[in-house]
Amino acid sequence: MTERYDIVVIGAGPAGYTAAIRAAQLGLKTACIDDWRDEKGQAALGGTCLNAGCIPSKALLESSEFFILARDQGAQRGLKFSGLSLDLAAMLAHKDKVVSDLTRGIATLFKANGVTWISGRAKLLSKNHVEITAENAKTVEAEHVILASGSTPVDIKGAPQDGRFIVNSQTALNFEAVPKRLGIIGAGVIGLELGSVWRRLGAEVLLLEAQEEFLSIVDEQVAREAHKQFTAQGLDIRLGARVLESRVEKNAVMIRYQDKNGEHVEPVDRLIVAVGRRPNTQNLFASETGLLLDEWGFVHVDEYCRTNLPKVYAIGDVVRGPMLAHKGMEEGAMVAAHIAGQVAQVDYDIVPSVIYTHPEIAWVGKTEQALKQAGLAYRSGVFPFAANGRAKAMGDAAGFVKILADKDSDRVRGVHLIGPHCSELVAAAVLAMSFGASSEDIALTMFAHPTLSEGLHEAALAVSGRAIHVAQPKRTKP
Ligand SMILES: Cc1cc2nc3c(=O)[nH]c(=O)nc-3n(C[C@H](O)[C@H](O)[C@H](O)COP(=O)(O)OP(=O)(O)OC[C@H]3O[C@@H](n4cnc5c(N)ncnc54)[C@H](O)[C@@H]3O)c2cc1C
Repeated sequence: MTERYDIVVIGAGPAGYTAAIRAAQLGLKTACIDDWRDEKGQAALGGTCLNAGCIPSKALLESSEFFILARDQGAQRGLKFSGLSLDLAAMLAHKDKVVSDLTRGIATLFKANGVTWISGRAKLLSKNHVEITAENAKTVEAEHVILASGSTPVDIKGAPQDGRFIVNSQTALNFEAVPKRLGIIGAGVIGLELGSVWRRLGAEVLLLEAQEEFLSIVDEQVAREAHKQFTAQGLDIRLGARVLESRVEKNAVMIRYQDKNGEHVEPVDRLIVAVGRRPNTQNLFASETGLLLDEWGFVHVDEYCRTNLPKVYAIGDVVRGPMLAHKGMEEGAMVAAHIAGQVAQVDYDIVPSVIYTHPEIAWVGKTEQALKQAGLAYRSGVFPFAANGRAKAMGDAAGFVKILADKDSDRVRGVHLIGPHCSELVAAAVLAMSFGASSEDIALTMFAHPTLSEGLHEAALAVSGRAIHVAQPKRTKP
């Protein structure tokens, strides 16, 4: 007999597993189908985020930062380490343990909430039939289907991957030895995070970025500071550099690239291709379904993640918007609520973004250049961590907090941070913006001392020229 569900979710990454758990919490009979296999060939939940993205990269970023602190700052803080050395295998084992604990955790949550986990490859046959290719191939019936098939790294012609010398971001989380010289194509979020990990562990890192501008998605003032800090750490960032060809020769990769000065060849030991990700739509649906894709190949959806097919939804990286785990999770929760007859929406104007380098970069809302381009009048308040007591005590005082507020209404339009723990600090900015706060609202809020969050308070005060711990331009009126 055909199995029937209220909801079938295809994909168990952060978007899909959130949708499945929330749907089950709301009393809907839910199945979640996923085809991920770990290195041992075992089925694993959590998608890219848990298995090959957010979590393993952060485990390596944390461990490598710990190494750098012990090596470079210990003595200055009165801690002498002798014989400090890197055990890369142990560092990778720690990362793998974090990943397996978390992926098993999703399996436990599925069980606790009554979500049926089906391991296999799924295909939408019609708006309420899903075919599953697995050991026991079958077709299940669903009242509603949620497509959450995620994304995979983009390949480029100039750097054909061989899985050993020329690799993608997933393989780059598992190098067995620290490459002496590492090339990375793409100085975006993933390229910078992976470059930071391997630089800290001793690699020379060369980043080739096709765009002329560094981190064009980030506020320009933050991008300038980031470029200064990363260059000082030894990341060799070359902008306007277009890779033409990469060839493996005698255990090295020869990269031929072009910039405004002509063609160059650089040898590296390993090359990571980190030029972006594309939506997973191949074999996801039968063409007879008539499911619409947009011009970029993403599943076409409206603001409630409804596709053109009735009762078929799509969420996460497979649809428009930033490819971020939390954006997919919120969409998953929204769609589950809709199906259960509740009112829910995602505020796409207030999606936080983070780059987990050192210093960390985080932001929410509009950048200064976007406000200028839109012709919107604003006031800006900037506060440097160099004037923040906690950051000084931590020995980690590079960077600043910047708040952009509407010139007339004072409503906060954007908050941009570069410095210590900015990934955590941005949450307060998101909360403030979600409640429609003005810079004055933040200025009138009390923050604990000494904390990094005082940087937010002082930046809000600086919007009206009254920051306390940094000199403000003289004003004629009190
Ligand atoms: C190195 C790296 C670091 C990252 N760091 C961060 C970060 O710090 N913060 C952040 O927010 N984002 C980060 N991301 C992005 C984040 O991983 C993605 O935005 C997120 O995983 C998308 O979630 P998703 O559920 O849409 O898709 P995915 O996580 O890609 O999951 C989709 C799942 O569906 C499965 N699937 C696909 N097609 C089928 C099918 N037909 N049948 C069955 N199963 C199928 C896939 O195998 C996969 O398991 C990072 C990504 C990378 C690569």
